[in-house]
Amino acid sequence: MEKSELLYEGKGKKMWSVKGNDELLIAEFKDDLTAFNAEKKGNEEGKGALNNQISTAIFKLLKENGIETALVESISPTEQLVKKCSIIPLEVVVRNIATGSLSKRLGIKEATVLPFTLVEFYYKDDALGDPLINDEHAILLDIVQSEQDLATLRHLGRQINSVLQPFFASKGLKLVDFKVEFGIDKDGNILLADEISPDSCRFWDVDTGEKMDKDRFRQDLGSVKVAYEEVLRRILS
Ligand code: UDP
Repeated sequence: MEKSELLYEGKGKKMWSVKGNDELLIAEFKDDLTAFNAEKKGNEEGKGALNNQISTAIFKLLKENGIETALVESISPTEQLVKKCSIIPLEVVVRNIATGSLSKRLGIKEATVLPFTLVEFYYKDDALGDPLINDEHAILLDIVQSEQDLATLRHLGRQINSVLQPFFASKGLKLVDFKVEFGIDKDGNILLADEISPDSCRFWDVDTGEKMDKDRFRQDLGSVKVAYEEVLRRILS
C-alpha cells in the first residue's frame, strides 16, 4: 500500500489516499499534542507511534467484541490502513467518573462516580469550539437524520464502554471518560473510526490515582510519554 495524496491534516493525524485504491486511506499518527481547542500546543517524540499501537490494540479488542471499526491493520510504527468513510461530525463522549468539562459546567465534584454511564454529543467544529449539543440541535444541523441515529450512537458508546471499562480495570486503570468518533461507509454502515488512545481517554491508576493520559500535558504534569508507554505496556501485558 503506497501513500498517494495528503487529503487532510488534523491535530493528531494526517490522512492520505492510497495509490490505486479508493476504498482505503492511510492514517499517519503525529507526535503533536494540542489541548484547549489547540490554544496549547506541544510535541512529544514517539507519541504518534505509541498512540498507533494503543489504538490498534483497542480497536482489535472491540472488533473481537462485535464492534465494527474502520481499522484494517497497522502497517508501520505510525501508520494504519483504514476503510474510507464519511466522519459524522460529532464527538461522542462517554463518562464513568466526573471530571474536566462536566465538573466545570455542572459543578459535579471532581472524581464523583456517576450513577450511570453518561453519553454526550459535541459538535465537531473548531471555529465554534466543539460545543455540547442536544439531540434536536444534531437534527437541526443535519448532523444526523433521526433520533434513531442518535440512539444508535449512544448505544455504541455504551457498548464500547462496557468492553473497555472492565478491560482497563483488569490492567489497573480506571477508565474515567473517553471520546469516540464514528463514520459511515459506502454501504451505510456505522463504523467506529478515528482513534482511542490516551489523547482521547482519561485513565487514572487504580492504586495511586495518577493520571496516565493527555491531562499530563493539559495540566503540565510532565512525563507524558512515560505515561503513554505505561498504558501500552499494561494493554499488551
Ligand atoms: N476529548 C477529546 N477531544 C476533545 C475533547 C474531549 O478526545 O476535543 C476527550 C477527553 O480526552 C476526555 C473526554 O473526551 O477523555 C471528555 O473531555 P471533556 O469534555 O471533559 O473536555 P476537557 O476537560 O478535555 O475540555
